[in-house]
Amino acid sequence: MRLEGLHHITMITGDARSNVAFYADTLGLRLVKKTVNFDDPSAYHLYFGDEAGAPGSILTWFEFPGAAPGRAGLGMIHTLRLGVPGAASIEFWETRLRDRGVTTERSADGATLTFADPDGLRLQLVVADDGNPPLTAVHPEVPAAHAITGLEGARAYSMFSGVEESVLTDVLGFTHEGDGEYRLQGERRHFHWAYDPAPALAPRQGAGTVHHIAWASRDEDHLDWQARIREADGYVTEVKDRDYFNAIYFREPRGVLFEIATLSPGFATDEDPEHLGEALRLPKQHEHLRERLEASLRPIVNPRAAGADAREVTA
Ligand code: ZN
Repeated sequence: MRLEGLHHITMITGDARSNVAFYADTLGLRLVKKTVNFDDPSAYHLYFGDEAGAPGSILTWFEFPGAAPGRAGLGMIHTLRLGVPGAASIEFWETRLRDRGVTTERSADGATLTFADPDGLRLQLVVADDGNPPLTAVHPEVPAAHAITGLEGARAYSMFSGVEESVLTDVLGFTHEGDGEYRLQGERRHFHWAYDPAPALAPRQGAGTVHHIAWASRDEDHLDWQARIREADGYVTEVKDRDYFNAIYFREPRGVLFEIATLSPGFATDEDPEHLGEALRLPKQHEHLRERLEASLRPIVNPRAAGADAREVTA
């Protein structure tokens, strides 16, 4: 039994509109689902990813309008690494981001490009060169040769960054590569997980911070993962039906909230794959609130829906 690498990563935004503009337009991902938080249906839950919303490509946000900026600290993820096809793609993105007023920083060796999203979340583009099949979305201004290829890694803060975390290696099947760096190798995809020494300032959950990270499980293994975490004395939740996958949640010993999510049924379970993320979808138990929510949630337009006609002409 092994995890299939990353499923998704979930963050908090204070402004869904600028979040959609940044990820579905500037970065060229596809907004694949527009729904609400299961536990607080007054808040948007937005999912971005490749054309199909495949696990490994998915970034999601809860919107809490006007949320104060958070600060990544001890026990929190501080950086997400997104793959691009090659060194020339780093150049492309440096120009595109600069043209859109985003401050970027190129590493000394030129291999990574670091910047922040509108909420202050730190992102890094890296060349995806060691075997992850590309998971890309189509955007009229982003050539396929430079499209983001999915998530390559994430880095968190820990007090014991260099010490091997045995829950990762013994329970979850990560490989410790030394110096706080881990690799989670699934059958098709892998993910680079790492701990860095924590800063002195206390962490604060808020806009621009990561809420949790979800690892992918084959459907048939999901309950066995729950049992394995219980046997390792970890507190783990019951299985929650999230409509697009089933989920269990637990906190790893360094403090980061982990989820294990099933690969099925995926985002096309309640809407046409051609029109993912265009209409507001509500969890079954919140469907009766639709009228109220449609009145209270600030409308968001999926750029894909807005640009669909233009795209057909240029394609
Ligand atoms: Zn999740």
